[in-house]
Amino acid sequence: MNNDKVLNGIEKDIKELVYGYVAQKSFTYSEDENQARDFIINYLSEIPYFKEHPQYYGAYDIEGDPFGRSVCYAMVKGEGSKTVVLVHHNDIVTVEDFKLLKDYAFSPDELEEKLMHVKDSLPKEAKEDLESGGYLFCRGGCDMKAGGSIQFSLLKRYSELENFKGNVIVIAVPDEENLSAGMRAAVKLLSQLKAEYNLEYQMMINSEPHQRKNPEEGIFSEGSVGKIMPFIYVRGYLSHIGKVFEGFNPLNLMAEIVRRTELNMDFSDVVGDESAPPPTWLYLKDSKTVYDVSMPLSASGCFSILTLNQSPAAVIDKVHKICEDSFDKILEDMNRSYERFSAVAEPVIKELPWKKKVMSFGELYNEAYALHGETFKESYEQKLKSLAEQLKNGEVNIIESNFSLLEMVFDYIDDLAPRVIHGLIPPYYPNVSNIYFEGIGDRAGLYETLDNFAKEQFSQHYTREYFYTGISDLSYTSVKDGKAVSEKLNEYMPLFGSFYDIPFEAIEDISMPCINIGPWGKDFHKMTERVYKEDLYNRTPAILNKAITELLK
Ligand SMILES: [Zn+2]
Repeated sequence: MNNDKVLNGIEKDIKELVYGYVAQKSFTYSEDENQARDFIINYLSEIPYFKEHPQYYGAYDIEGDPFGRSVCYAMVKGEGSKTVVLVHHNDIVTVEDFKLLKDYAFSPDELEEKLMHVKDSLPKEAKEDLESGGYLFCRGGCDMKAGGSIQFSLLKRYSELENFKGNVIVIAVPDEENLSAGMRAAVKLLSQLKAEYNLEYQMMINSEPHQRKNPEEGIFSEGSVGKIMPFIYVRGYLSHIGKVFEGFNPLNLMAEIVRRTELNMDFSDVVGDESAPPPTWLYLKDSKTVYDVSMPLSASGCFSILTLNQSPAAVIDKVHKICEDSFDKILEDMNRSYERFSAVAEPVIKELPWKKKVMSFGELYNEAYALHGETFKESYEQKLKSLAEQLKNGEVNIIESNFSLLEMVFDYIDDLAPRVIHGLIPPYYPNVSNIYFEGIGDRAGLYETLDNFAKEQFSQHYTREYFYTGISDLSYTSVKDGKAVSEKLNEYMPLFGSFYDIPFEAIEDISMPCINIGPWGKDFHKMTERVYKEDLYNRTPAILNKAITELLK
């Protein structure tokens, strides 16, 4: 590859593209994402190579998508089978926090001017960066149309080379900030392209921005954290508040479970000198809709766990154990209170009737099926259908759908004793890292090569981490024990298969190591989101080009 020709003047191409790309208000989980798709398809259609080879680019529709979204792809098909895949997302988060500057969030130059007027109200570092002129401020520039613009600009340059060795594919996906519907579809597309053109995937390169702990050191990530969301549903037993011992308050047990899981470091994986942040609760509600003098019938909630190494099975076992221990503790406390209470008056019963009962969603389903057979199954399927419709129309969210389905199963349960049900809510992101990737071979040396290159070219040192902790689409580049994971999700995730799917077979088919090579950025998702211009226009394109050259050698 002739490097001069590839990189010469590329900053102009990148600048033009990133300004146009950012102007598309592609808010995540909405029809607006299609603006970014249409923009990219139009951009590609004007490149002479793709005019000549229209079969090498297009929009791949996401099956059954409520907003009709698609994945954009473009391939420069050279000689041989070695192929590098570049991926980025083009959805963005909302601009609520821009307040009066919302109208300028998508025009970097105007925004910069407006921010200058209010610079004294900005955090110190943001103010300094603004005054330096070294950063591009705008919504979705840093996260991550900057990375996307670098990728497409390089691809365009490759398309102009003669006798190109190897193949480069760029994939632009929607929905990364939500459920990664784009990436989950892209995996199937890559599997099809692999079969059609006999491709050998070398590596997937994402270009999410990197955050620096030390401003002097860049970071390459050779993997991505996993994310798993357990849900808990506690069914209590109703009673009037004057007769508390005749009931079982689900809030009491739920509170104990929340206390034992929130920030619990037993869930936090450690790999080398990296550790996953501990879990945190995202949602917690009881079933009351009006005020009255009885306790609520149920409580439900879910929490999020980031993983570096744990399998879903290991997480589920820990959750189960915590639910059991919490139940024991609550029964002990309740019985102690009851003893004190009944010491005064003659006790009616010696001990409270409640027994510990903890089970998975799959077990609850089986109990209902054993009792009511096909009648139950039919109404279950019916409920799934109507929930899918409501979800599509934005009448419910995915968490509410999950619990609404669960409540429906309870209608078919005869045993009304209190119990805890646990399971999983979408999305699920597998943890991936090149340290787990078997047969990585020479590609393991890529980090050193790139670090040396950056030192020579820019006197810039890069460190390496094995997991990008920001959660990314790289999670779907490979999977350990796909079959076992898929079975677990089937059993524990009520919405798996109908609402939400992960194409494990396709992931195994395209399985490749991964790396994140992106520009330096700050304050993602905030009003002061910004990307370092030197990286955007010069350094990152050169490093990315070096990586692609090495991988296609
Ligand atoms: Zn991002």
